[in-house]
Amino acid sequence: MTQQSLPRPPRVDRSTLSFVPELVYFEPAALDYPKGKRIFEWVQKEGIPYRMTTSHNRITNLPGNSELEQYKIAKRTLVVGLRKTLKFDTSKPSAEYAIPIATGCMAHCHYCYLQTTLGAKPYIRVYVNIDDILEAAQGYINERAPEITRFEAACTSDPVGLEPITGSLRELIEYMGQQPLARLRFVTKFHHVDSLLDAKHNGHTRIRFSVNSKHVIKHFEPSTSRFEQRIEAAAKAAKAGYPIGFIIAPIIWHDGWEEGYGELLAALDDALPQDVRGDLTFELIQHRFTKTAKGVIEKRYPKTKLEMDIEKRKYKWGRWGQGKYVYPDEQADALRLFISERVFEHFPDSKIEYFT
Ligand code: SF4
Repeated sequence: MTQQSLPRPPRVDRSTLSFVPELVYFEPAALDYPKGKRIFEWVQKEGIPYRMTTSHNRITNLPGNSELEQYKIAKRTLVVGLRKTLKFDTSKPSAEYAIPIATGCMAHCHYCYLQTTLGAKPYIRVYVNIDDILEAAQGYINERAPEITRFEAACTSDPVGLEPITGSLRELIEYMGQQPLARLRFVTKFHHVDSLLDAKHNGHTRIRFSVNSKHVIKHFEPSTSRFEQRIEAAAKAAKAGYPIGFIIAPIIWHDGWEEGYGELLAALDDALPQDVRGDLTFELIQHRFTKTAKGVIEKRYPKTKLEMDIEKRKYKWGRWGQGKYVYPDEQADALRLFISERVFEHFPDSKIEYFT
C-alpha cells in the first residue's frame, strides 16, 4: 500500500469537545482552594504544560512570534487565580450586577466585544475563591432587600464553555436557588449543560442560549458549539425545569438571511417541549461595531467576511463616549419585523424583551 492510498484518519469534530487549554498558569494562592487544587490535579493528569504566575493580571511571557500568534495562543491559555476585586460592575438592563467567575473566552467570534474590552489580556481567567464572590453577592442581595437582585454571569466570558473545568456555575446556581431574593442569568454559545441539569436551581436561574442563522455560526463563530448542539442543549435545560431564553445576536444582514432566521425559529419550535413555552424570552440584538472594534477585528481576523463598512451603516451615539455603527433604519426595521413575526408565529406566548 502506498502512502497516498492510506485511509484518512476520521476528522475530529472539535465543536463536540469541551475546552482543553494548551497552557495553564496558576497563582500560587489558587492552590490553597479546593477548586484550584482540583484544576491543578486535572492539568497534571492531562499532561497540560503549566507555569506559576504572581498575578492573573500580568501574564507577559506568552509564547508566539507575532501579536496574532500570541493572541491565538492566549485564547487557549487558562489562568487560574483569585478574584480580588469584589465590587461588582452593574449590568443594566438585564440584571443589576455582573457576577465575576471568569474573564475571557476560548471561542473566536469575530464580532465579540471582549476583543476590545479585554484589550491586551485575551487569555482566560477563572477564579477559584467562589465563596468570597458569593459573600459579596450576598452583600448586594441584602442591600437591595426586599427587592429582587439579578446577577448576570456571562458579561466577561462564556461560563458554560468553562464549566467542565471549573464547576463554578453549578455552585452559583445552587446558591441562588436558595435565595428568595436573588436570580441568576447567563448566556452561552456552548452546549456543555449536562452537569447543570440536576442542580437545585429552584427556578431562580434563567439560561439564555445565544443562537443565530447557520450562516452566521459557520462564518463568524469559530470554536463555539454548533447550531444543532445549542438547540439540543436548550431543550435539555428546559426539560430540567430551568426558565430559558434565546438571544438572537448579532443579527446579521447576509444573503439568505430570511431563510436563515426562519430556519432557526422553526428548529427551535421543533426542539422545545410545549410546556416551557409560556415563560420563554427572546432578546434581539442587531450587529453593531465601533471604529476601535473594526480595527481590532481586521487585525485579528484579517480574512473575515464580517461586513463593517461604515458607509453602509447608521451612526448611533453612545451614552458613554464612542458611538456604534448599526444598520440603517430601513434594514434594522426589516430584520426586527421579520424575526419578531417568526418568533410569535412559533412561540405566541413568548416575550421579546427588546430589539436593539
Ligand atoms: S462565545 Fe461569546 S464570549 Fe466567547 S468569543 Fe463568542 S461572543 Fe465572545
